[in-house]
Amino acid sequence: MAFGSRKAGGPPTEAIGRLARVPLCVLPTPLVEAQRLSEALGGPRILLKRDDLTGRSAGGNKLRKLEFLLADAIERGCDTVITCGAAQSNHAAQTAVACANLGLDCVLVLWAPMRQGTVGNLLIDDLAGAKVVFVDKSSGTTREQAMEAEALRPAGRKPYIVGVGGSCGLGSVGYALAFDEILGQCEELGIAPTAVVAACGSGGTVGGLLAGAAAAAPGVRVVGIDVDADPDLLGDTLRCARECAEVLGTPSPMEAPDDLLVQGYVGPGYGRPSREGREAIMLALRTEGIVLDPIYTGKAMAGLIGMVRAGAFGPSDTVVFVHTGGLPGLFAIGEDLLAV
Ligand SMILES: *Cc1c(COP(=O)(O)O)cnc(C)c1O
Repeated sequence: MAFGSRKAGGPPTEAIGRLARVPLCVLPTPLVEAQRLSEALGGPRILLKRDDLTGRSAGGNKLRKLEFLLADAIERGCDTVITCGAAQSNHAAQTAVACANLGLDCVLVLWAPMRQGTVGNLLIDDLAGAKVVFVDKSSGTTREQAMEAEALRPAGRKPYIVGVGGSCGLGSVGYALAFDEILGQCEELGIAPTAVVAACGSGGTVGGLLAGAAAAAPGVRVVGIDVDADPDLLGDTLRCARECAEVLGTPSPMEAPDDLLVQGYVGPGYGRPSREGREAIMLALRTEGIVLDPIYTGKAMAGLIGMVRAGAFGPSDTVVFVHTGGLPGLFAIGEDLLAV
C-alpha cells in the first residue's frame, strides 16, 4: 500500500517516492485478531501485527528499516555493510541475510568477549556468509569505534555503516510506513485502533510508529515497552521519530507523550530472560499459537499484559501488538528461559 494513499492528512506520496527502497519484505504482513488472548486477559480487543513474517531470514522488524538503509548504501555506491549488535542480535542476522540477498558484503561487530557456540542468530550470520568480529565491552572500545576500525580494513571496498538496530530517521521510515499499513488494514476490517504496542530496544521501531501516527492518526496511542533499560532510550526514540518526520516531510511529533515508554519489564537485564516474559510467551503460544522470543517480544507481551491488568486499556480499546520477530533468540537461550 502506498504511503499517502489515505485521505486523512497522510504523508504525501511524493515523500516516499523520493526515497530509494529495496524490496526485502513481503508486505503487507498479516494483521490478525487475537480473540483467545484477549479473552484470557479479560482485556481490550487485541490484534497481532505479524512482523515476524516479513519474509527474509527468520522474519523480524529490522528488514523494514533495511529496505531504506541498504537502498541508501547502494545509491551511495557502497559495497560493504558494517553493523553491530549483541551476540544474538536479530538486527545483525537480518542485515547479514539482506546483504547476501543484495550481493553486498557484510561485517558484523558483535558485542561479546568471544564466540560462544553457533546457535540461533549466530548460525544464520555464518550461513549467510557475513564476516563476524567479536569485540569485548571491557576493551574500552565503543561499538562505533569498532565499526569505524572495520570500515578501514577492506582495501578497495566502500563501506556503509548501519548504526545500532538500524535506528535512525531513515531506518524509522520503515515503521512510519508500517503504521500506515496497520491503519489501512484496520480500515478494511472496519476497526479503529486506539493503541499500537511494540518492544522498544534501540528506538527506531517505536520512533517510526510515532512518526507515522503524528502524520496520519495522532489520536492513536503509540506505546513502547522498554526491553533495554538504557536511560537514553526515550531520547533516542524521540530523535528517531523527529528525524523520520523530517525525512518524510510530515508533521513532527513535538513532545514525547508521557506514556511513550513503559518501564518495568526488562527483568534481570537486556538479553536475559525474565519470568514474566516466559509466562507471556506461554500464554501467547497457548492461546494464539504464536511464538514470541525471550529478549524482546515476550517482554513486550508481558508489558501489554501488565498494562491490561493495571487498567491502562478499557473495553472499548483496540490494541495492535506488533510481533517484531526474534525467533532465533528463543532457540539460543532455551535452557535459561525454562530456568528463570
Ligand atoms: C530489534 C528488535 C526490537 C526492537 O526494535 P528497535 O527498533 O531496536 O527498538 C524488537 N523486537 C525484536 C525481535 C528485535 O529484534
